[in-house]
Amino acid sequence: MTDLKSQTPEEMTRTLMPMGEPAFRGKQVFTWLHRGVSSFDEMTNLPKSLREKLAETCVLTPPKAVCKQVSKLDGTIKYLWELGDGNCIESVLMQYHHGNTVCISSQVGCRMGCAFCASTIAGKVRDLSPAELLDQVIYTQKDSGLPISNIVLMGIGEPMDNLDSVLKFLELVNHPDGLNIGMRHISLSTCGVIPGIDRLADLGLQLTLSVSLHAPDGETRSKIMPVNRAYPVEDLFAACHRYFEKTGRRISFEYAMIDGVNDRDWQADLIAERVRGMPGHVNLIPLNDVVESPFKPSKRVAAFQKRLEVHGLTATVRRSLGGDIDASCGQLRRKAMEEQKGK
Ligand code: SAH
Repeated sequence: MTDLKSQTPEEMTRTLMPMGEPAFRGKQVFTWLHRGVSSFDEMTNLPKSLREKLAETCVLTPPKAVCKQVSKLDGTIKYLWELGDGNCIESVLMQYHHGNTVCISSQVGCRMGCAFCASTIAGKVRDLSPAELLDQVIYTQKDSGLPISNIVLMGIGEPMDNLDSVLKFLELVNHPDGLNIGMRHISLSTCGVIPGIDRLADLGLQLTLSVSLHAPDGETRSKIMPVNRAYPVEDLFAACHRYFEKTGRRISFEYAMIDGVNDRDWQADLIAERVRGMPGHVNLIPLNDVVESPFKPSKRVAAFQKRLEVHGLTATVRRSLGGDIDASCGQLRRKAMEEQKGK
């Protein structure tokens, strides 16, 4: 079966031409798919015979919203989607004053093993296809009725561990005949997979790169983020500097504040030293308590922020949305999995 939705209009045309279709069909089908039709039969400007042929040869499995939770606090919506093969992923829709932002997953599970994160506890099951990445945006918009203007790749999974699909997704979601979401409205977050950062730098895309730093010193970082043993933090900062030189884009460093682990003044000083030479933005995240993890939220968030600012860095504290529906970073999917197990 052909995964038509993972294709660009040009590729769709190449798929359809051997079926005797004219070149403009590619764009027609692309537009329909990006509008979120749930069957080929809805593509009313296509000949019936073609609709039937596509239904036989191509997959079109829209994700099923098996659970939808709306926060009473701020309207944040969390979706649990069931994919064609029965696996589940989550997306979160957040309403900010600058527009509606959807946080999407890049893999079913994650194999990065960060000690404080709930998404990685059961490991990685598989990568998502470009279509499955895209569907999270299309169907979140369709179901909620809220137009989406921003995307963050900060849900379950490591985008750099599925970079081919992610890059294809970016091309699709950015396409003028589709959702047409500008690169400057997209953020991609990585735990620090250096080859991925370099590949992205070479492409010179105008998206925002977020690096989940969580500790500026190798000893602490290796303890909480196994990825640091493969890609040490010193090399990671070198890659960040290369990225800035190539793209001119400011990197955002994510920093979940953990009590007694990464919240000391000397660590703020070391962040400043390592960022020096490029504009850096440090986004301090109050740690979300994950039941299975031994880490506790730091009480030094404000002090740490001040210390960074003394060094001339921009430091913000992330506002937490959807706290009543477990929609916060690192908390996705776990509960749903537990509940499924209990069934
Ligand atoms: N794998 C990518 C994308 C996940 S983004 C990455 O690591 O960047 C999710 C963000 O939430 C990451 O910055 C991650 O480190 C952070 N996070 C994970 N668990 C968390 C927790 N318990 N509290 C706060 N932030 C957490």
